[in-house]
Amino acid sequence: MTEYESCSNCSEEVTTDSDFCPHCGALFRNAGGVFCESHPDEEASGVCIICRKLVCHDCSVESGHRMFCSDHNGIEVRQDWAGVFQSTDINEAELVKSFLLSEKFTVQVQNFNSIGFVWDGGGDSSISRSALSKPAKVFVPIPEYIAAAEAVRQWNDSAAEESGGPESSPQ
Ligand SMILES: [Zn+2]
Ligand SMILES: [Zn+2]
Ligand SMILES: [Zn+2]
Repeated sequence: MTEYESCSNCSEEVTTDSDFCPHCGALFRNAGGVFCESHPDEEASGVCIICRKLVCHDCSVESGHRMFCSDHNGIEVRQDWAGVFQSTDINEAELVKSFLLSEKFTVQVQNFNSIGFVWDGGGDSSISRSALSKPAKVFVPIPEYIAAAEAVRQWNDSAAEESGGPESSPQ
């Protein structure tokens, strides 16, 4: 039987035998004596929630009470979803979404069409609807982020080759 408790850092539910919180990257006491993967002399202070690498104070970046490694700093995270692509060009965002779906990723979008995206459990749909001037964003579940980001990168590369290299990344 799996037991749950709430993370002392972010209050999300975690299993009692976890060494870290997958929602915010906080290390739990029972982890004990784990070290930064980049600085083996430094005790780890958390786990990057994207790649699950152990990070110390020097190489972690905390954003919105979540822990990231320096490689994954700046990724937009909403609940347990990570932003893998954004563009003010809705057609391009639609293409990325269709591509990711065809590759069997789980996808959520924000600022697509007039409906907007309503987050489970507490999303504010009226705000989403009024956010039409904001870039359309494509999110995938955090555990799928690395594979999805790589897939989008390769897909962008091949698209750029075919059409002579349009700029497809957001500013
Ligand atoms: Zn947490
Ligand atoms: Zn990372
Ligand atoms: Zn470090």
